Amino acid sequence: MSTPTSTLAFAVATLLLSGNCLGSRKLLVFLIDGFRYDYMDDLQSLPGFKAIVDNGVKVDYTTPDFPSLSYPNYYTLMTGRYCDVHQMTGNYMWDQATTKEFLIGTNPDSRLPMWWDGSEPIWVTMQKLGKKVFMYYWPGCEVEIMGVRSSFCEEYVYDPTVKNLTDSMENALNALRSGKADMAAVYYEKIDIEGHHYGPMSPQVKTAVQRLDVAFQALNQKIKEKDLRDELNIMMFSDHGMTELKWMEKVIELDRSINMSDIVKMMDRGPVVSLWPKQAKYEEVYRALSSVRNMKVYRRNEIPDRFHYKGGKFVSSLTLVADPGWFITESKSKLPFWANSSSQEPEGWQHGWHGYDNEFVDMRGVFLAQGPDFKKNVRAAPIRSVDVYNLMCKTLGIQPLPNNGSWSRVEYLLNGSVSLVGSIWAFILVVVVLSF
Ligand SMILES: [Zn+2]
Repeated sequence: MSTPTSTLAFAVATLLLSGNCLGSRKLLVFLIDGFRYDYMDDLQSLPGFKAIVDNGVKVDYTTPDFPSLSYPNYYTLMTGRYCDVHQMTGNYMWDQATTKEFLIGTNPDSRLPMWWDGSEPIWVTMQKLGKKVFMYYWPGCEVEIMGVRSSFCEEYVYDPTVKNLTDSMENALNALRSGKADMAAVYYEKIDIEGHHYGPMSPQVKTAVQRLDVAFQALNQKIKEKDLRDELNIMMFSDHGMTELKWMEKVIELDRSINMSDIVKMMDRGPVVSLWPKQAKYEEVYRALSSVRNMKVYRRNEIPDRFHYKGGKFVSSLTLVADPGWFITESKSKLPFWANSSSQEPEGWQHGWHGYDNEFVDMRGVFLAQGPDFKKNVRAAPIRSVDVYNLMCKTLGIQPLPNNGSWSRVEYLLNGSVSLVGSIWAFILVVVVLSF
């Protein structure tokens, strides 16, 4: 029979054994948009990344959540939840009940709580606990979520420069070192932009990766100079990868199969398209789209369970998913970069895209980490976007909210020494209490 003392002892022991004592250290995170898993394969030519890998951990790749788009994965990374749990199911969303739109964070209605309050991101939890989070160019840091904002938010601007990045690094390190911040989060978009414009294998992407590497060399140097190596954990991760789009060859034009006047609302174009047909035309539209090659059309209940998507409250009545490398649009003439369409490739045509089935290899991203709580010079098996949240919570020393991440996939990355101390204390506590 348990006494109150032994119950308390077991509770404390469980807390210690579960490793919750691990960390309570400061954390600096980098969200590098669109950094595909293989962009740093040639580590010898990237001394900044190489130093981080040598001093820390690198997983082979991360599998994004579906759809492999930015906003859904920003929120998956920061909540540890699947898209149909946190509700950020697209870069472009429409709420049928209110007819409000979310347009990749650019319109004023994108800041409405309805899009953000589906789950509590880690920075809001931190602020609620009285800890301070400084965020730089992070999409959404300017939004009040559940009545809370980060302590500091340098608002997102399109395509932050390398100077913006290096200034953010310096400011973040100073804020962390001085005690003003417990966590700092920096967003960088250039790799994604170059991947879209020129394609994932382009020299422009290679140059952007090299410039980012130079910034990380400077970061490593600053961490040494500021003597932060033993007290600061750093994580770098991306939201998704990128695949090549072939000009003209792989475009699906919906107006060749359906009458667009039968559609009440269409959101986004590319790999995933959301359609709300008129109720009376629903079956007709569905049947017509079912025969279109190189894409799939799903009724809500037909969307594969493994996407963890169909339960989202902003999910449309029909969801179209293109095969890898294919691009769905209403009509070529409606694409802004198709205005002067001719046999020549129009200016502005994008050579890379993402958003496809999250198991498609080109959609894979990266995860690297270094710091006192991480092993050194360790290569590890792949993890998923949903797993990163638990790692952040653990090293920050906060209790994670219920989430979809797998602890067994990330536990190996952590240095066991702190939890070993916790385990010993737990063992001693249990023995002492039981001996009375
Ligand atoms: Zn992205």
